[in-house]
Parts: sequence; C-alpha cells; structure tokens
Amino acid sequence: MNVKTLIYSENTELSLQLLGRALQLSAGASALATDEEQAAVLSGYGASRVYFVKDRSFDTLRAGLLEVAARESPDLVMVGSTKRGRELAPRVASALGAGYSGDCFDVQQGEDGFQVKRLAYGGSTVATMRIRGKPAVVSVPPRSFQKPETQGKRGEAIELNVTSPASRVKVIESRPKKAGDSGLENAKVIVSAGRGFKKREDLKLLEELAAELGAKMGCSRPVSADLGWMAQWVGISGKKVAPRLYIACGISGTIQHAAGIRDSHIIVSINSDEAAGIHEISDYSIVGDIYTVLPALTRALRERAR
Ligand SMILES: Cc1cc2nc3c(=O)[nH]c(=O)nc-3n(C[C@H](O)[C@H](O)[C@H](O)COP(=O)(O)OP(=O)(O)OC[C@H]3O[C@@H](n4cnc5c(N)ncnc54)[C@H](O)[C@@H]3O)c2cc1C
Repeated sequence: MNVKTLIYSENTELSLQLLGRALQLSAGASALATDEEQAAVLSGYGASRVYFVKDRSFDTLRAGLLEVAARESPDLVMVGSTKRGRELAPRVASALGAGYSGDCFDVQQGEDGFQVKRLAYGGSTVATMRIRGKPAVVSVPPRSFQKPETQGKRGEAIELNVTSPASRVKVIESRPKKAGDSGLENAKVIVSAGRGFKKREDLKLLEELAAELGAKMGCSRPVSADLGWMAQWVGISGKKVAPRLYIACGISGTIQHAAGIRDSHIIVSINSDEAAGIHEISDYSIVGDIYTVLPALTRALRERAR
C-alpha cells in the first residue's frame, strides 16, 4: 500500500487523527497547516512535508490546498469535517475535478480509487461508496481515526506564499451568539418539547421539570423553526446531543429528530400515542398525556428532594 495523502484541518487534534489514518495507508503524508505552530505539531507526529499559510481566511486555505495538491499530486485528500472543512472540501474537489464524499468515518484503498463509509438516512444506515479517479477528496468527522504515536523525527515545514483571490463574499454584519441559548451539546440532562405542546405558555410545565432536574431545554424542529418558541432544536438539522438523560415530551420521534439524540445514554419518552416511533428508540416509555404526566413527574421529584 503506498497512497499519497494530503490532510488538512484547522483543528489540530482532528488533523492528527487524519494523519493517523494517512500513515496507515502509506509511509508518508503531506499536510496543510493553518500556521507554523500547527505545522510543527504535525511534522512531529510524522507528516513528511507540512505546508503552512500566513492567514486562515477561507480563500487562502482553499488556494493553499490547491497549491499543495499541485505540488504533491496526492491520491487522497482528507479534510476534517468541521464547519469550515465541510465547506472547503467540496470546493477543492470541484476545482480539482475530483470525486468527493462528505463525513466519511472509514476510508479504504480500493482497486480503482477509494472505498468510503458514511452514515445515511439520518444515521439509521451506513452507505458504502466508491470514489474513482485521482485524487479522491473526503471530509472526515472527529474521532473516526486515532492519532499516531509521536515520531520524534521532524518532517519538513514549508511556508506557502499563496495569495488569496479577492473574495466575492462581502460580510455585511456579524452578530455574537446570544448567551443562554447554547449549551445543549454539553448538557447532562435535556428535557425536550414537541408539537404535543398546544400553546407556548404550556412550556411552563417543561420549565418546571427542567428546574427540578437541573436540565437544559430543547425541542423538535417545528417547535423552534415553525412556532419560534425556542431558539434551537435537536436533530439532524439542529443540535446533536449526547446527554446522560434525554426526556422527549410530545415528540413523535421522526428519523430527523432521532438522529440527533442517538448518542444519549438514557432516552425517556412521554407520548400519548402508543404507536409513536419515539417509544421504539426509548429506554423508558410513558404512554400518557404530557399535561398529566409532566406535573406528576415534577411533583414526585420535588417530594423526593425534600
Ligand atoms: C430536511 C429536514 C430536516 C429536519 N430536521 C429535523 C431536526 O433536526 N429535528 C427535528 O425535530 N425535526 C426535524 N425535521 C422535522 C421532522 O421531520 C418532524 O416533522 C418533526 O421532528 C416532528 O416534530 P414533533 O415530533 O414535535 O411533531 P409531531 O410529529 O407532530 O409529533 C407530535 C407528537 O406529540 C404527541 N402528542 C400530541 N399531544 C400529546 C399530549 N397531549 N401528550 C403526549 N403526547 C402528545 C403525538 O402523539 C405525536 O407523536 C426535519 C425535516 C426535514 C424535511
């Protein structure tokens, strides 16, 4: 196996994981780093040639990756699946006229290119895909691969003098995220509202339960995107969460919602419909009306806390 791989991520840990896989596929790998410091880390872990750029702007990184690809002619380009990486990788693939697949958690060398695996249908199934031709471009989510052992020997670090073309994007305004809206990703306990809630004021029932459990509040997409009752929703197009306890209240459990909660340790559902899909993915199901169950649950927790 002697695959020429080029890796990039602005997240150094993720970059090292990509390097780990690259070194399994071949004896050497080249990398693009966001600065000299990251270049030093990557070369210390065994990247044979690390190019670094002077600024981290999107256009510079794109131009940098294309420049390194021209110099190294890699068989495989692996980009970390961060927000930026997911934008960068397909653009690079398009400029190279290369095949691309996103969020691949497995990459193997095939007979005529590469075979990759990625989740499909909201994470309910694994799709195996083949990318033919050279290079293949993929983005790779965090923790798909292990970082290599430190090598001790240093590879070459090369400064790239790429000039970014004038951006066609003009930033008109930037606004900081509102404090207090976030935190769902790291929450230990989440109580979540679905369309089973008839009125916004009824969310009080959820707030009371959240207060007893020290939980963050989440919701399904329609409660946020359609009704505007909460800032963020849980699911494939919202926040992916992994709490110790997730309580889904009046949520049907469609695949798009389920994909966002599959890493939860314990899922409890409260839904009046016995046939609701959420019960199938729950550890504990309560078939009942949230307007009765939630106050009873909150009361029971209060009594226990006394
Ligand atoms: C591209 C795309 C992306 C999407 N991404 C997401 C996503 O990230 N997250 C997400 O959540 N959705 C997402 N959706 C929407 C998704 O398909 C569903 O429409 C949505 O999850 C349903 O929300 P819900 O469960 O709150 O509502 P419903 O499906 O209407 O379910 C309401 C549930 O409440 C129950 N109920 C009603 N009254 C009561 C009561 N009094 N007591 C107890 N239970 C009661 C009902 O039995 C029902 O099961 C996406 C859709 C698309 C097309």
